[in-house]
Amino acid sequence: MGAIRPREPAISIASLPGSLPRVTIAETVVHEAIAQGVVDRLVCLSSDDFLGDALWRDKLALTGTNKTLAGALPIASAWNELYEIYKQGNFIYVPNSSNIGRLGPQIAWINARFTFTVAGPLPGTCSGNLMLVPVPGGQWKIWCLSTFLEKLDNQPDVDVLHPVNVTTATNVPHGLVSDEKSNGTASSYYDCVIVGAGTAGLTIAARLKALDISAVTIERDHQIGNSWAKRYTSLRAHTSRNYNQFPYVRVWGPEYPELLSTGDITEGLQRFATLFDLNVWLSTALQKAVWNEQDLQWEVSVLRGDWEQKVFARHLVFATGLGTDFPVMPNLPNKEKFHGTVLHSIEYKNSDLWSGKKGVVVGSANTGHDVAVDMVNAGLSSITMVQRGHTPILPVQMLSAQLNSVYTETRPVELADRLMWGIPTAITRLTIMEAMKLHADEINGRLDLLEQANFKVDREADIMKCRSERRGGHYVDIGGSNMIIAGQIKMKSDSPLVGFTNRGLAFEDGSTLDADVVIFTTGFETNMRLYAGKFLEPDVLERLEDFAGMDSEGETRGLCRPLGRKLGISPDLSQTYIL
Ligand SMILES: Cc1cc2nc3c(=O)[nH]c(=O)nc-3n(C[C@H](O)[C@H](O)[C@H](O)COP(=O)(O)OP(=O)(O)OC[C@H]3O[C@@H](n4cnc5c(N)ncnc54)[C@H](O)[C@@H]3O)c2cc1C
Repeated sequence: MGAIRPREPAISIASLPGSLPRVTIAETVVHEAIAQGVVDRLVCLSSDDFLGDALWRDKLALTGTNKTLAGALPIASAWNELYEIYKQGNFIYVPNSSNIGRLGPQIAWINARFTFTVAGPLPGTCSGNLMLVPVPGGQWKIWCLSTFLEKLDNQPDVDVLHPVNVTTATNVPHGLVSDEKSNGTASSYYDCVIVGAGTAGLTIAARLKALDISAVTIERDHQIGNSWAKRYTSLRAHTSRNYNQFPYVRVWGPEYPELLSTGDITEGLQRFATLFDLNVWLSTALQKAVWNEQDLQWEVSVLRGDWEQKVFARHLVFATGLGTDFPVMPNLPNKEKFHGTVLHSIEYKNSDLWSGKKGVVVGSANTGHDVAVDMVNAGLSSITMVQRGHTPILPVQMLSAQLNSVYTETRPVELADRLMWGIPTAITRLTIMEAMKLHADEINGRLDLLEQANFKVDREADIMKCRSERRGGHYVDIGGSNMIIAGQIKMKSDSPLVGFTNRGLAFEDGSTLDADVVIFTTGFETNMRLYAGKFLEPDVLERLEDFAGMDSEGETRGLCRPLGRKLGISPDLSQTYIL
């Protein structure tokens, strides 16, 4: 094994370098010619080609990893140093790809796409995005640059995979790719074992299939999509339908609602696995994974029903989700004295049996609102939401408008991904905050009403901070705020929760709240390293990065980064380690 890199400390997303360009660009500007001119200069860049606080986000094209560099000088130096290895060249502007981006009247830039080639150890084709702004004197400079590895020479295209006409059900275990270890009786060999058949696991399985890399996906549940099907009945995705699409095929057509239900999501996941005949072993749980240094492969023990089997592979992917195995539940005194029902949201299905009872929801983020709305609809006699800190509110219409402007009904998902994920994290964060400021007039009135109803609103609304540092903690308003404003959901936000009484909850200021049912919507421990630790040996675990929070470049720690040994992490959809 190689040297162990020290684990990266998490930093505050607010401290990332980067800013929005406060410039105006006339509608008549000839953006195509300007973009073409900058693309022609890409072969040899100097710091003068960039804004002082420019950003460059690379995805595998020139750095072999997921990396963001900041500042004109560091970017130009790295670009030119990397030329010594990769000889990046043949830069071609993608015809008709330029347009003017605007965020309100004072922020504007030109977008353009280009393609290029790399030589060096792994020659291939790449693509990139440019975001350009004018500076006094008439020059156009690069504000943001992003680059992506598209395809290695003489290798299949990861973005091309055709549906297979399958008749087999996906819950039938598929054949072994090879059985080098034991003639196909109890062991098998794959290039990659993927643990978990959710969105991330299935996407990776399909990507590997496109690259002709043999893989098996193991799923502990008896059907694909159960991690959604098992959650509470009223749950809907808060991100819009087209943002949720897989690569290769749109499993959710326009006949589906904009916000998919858990049933819709489960159906789509199953259809995707079937369409591409992905090799998924259901009812198969990971037991243990041991790295064999001599053979340079993993020995993966799995339990298929009651049959223990070993699978050998060079690569192991954890696509095991956002930590729902680790519900966070405050350890409050006197719980045993409470006469009512106490659940964490992971155990909660619906409120139908509690009509006429007093319901309390602890937590004021997405799930807290969903459960409180359920309680209103189920006719509980009183519903109170217990809120600790201030909660950012993002109207769903704003989120959908932003996602749908990139993930349109017709734009290929692969292209939308490049547009969305090429933008440096700091810029995405500032863009969301600016968009909320621009809609302040529409939003503020409602926020005032929420505050009058004793809901503590986080007016800063740093949604990306919530997403990246807490993986939650905000509310995408799909209707719950109205019920708080209307008084159907009461707020208890004036004093910290300190324990139970026999009739309900006790607060620091001596006040109490009667309850028959208390649902804790207090989230999950989302550092996947903890979960992976259940299956890995200590020396391997030591090499794993924490999967939580941002690193100093604004990349999710642990995501798509080389670790101590050749440890990397998943593409596309987060929540995944490739070991
Ligand atoms: C309440 C809630 C609402 C959410 N809403 C949204 C939303 O609106 N939009 C959005 O983009 N994201 C949302 N998310 C995040 C969402 O979980 C992810 O986007 C998506 O499900 C991630 O997919 P995944 O494949 O990483 O994980 P999952 O879908 O959780 O899949 C993980 C799979 O791994 C399997 N597994 C785990 N351990 C093992 C093991 N030891 N052996 C074998 N199999 C195993 C599980 O059974 C599961 O099938 C939400 C999350 C929650 C909890």
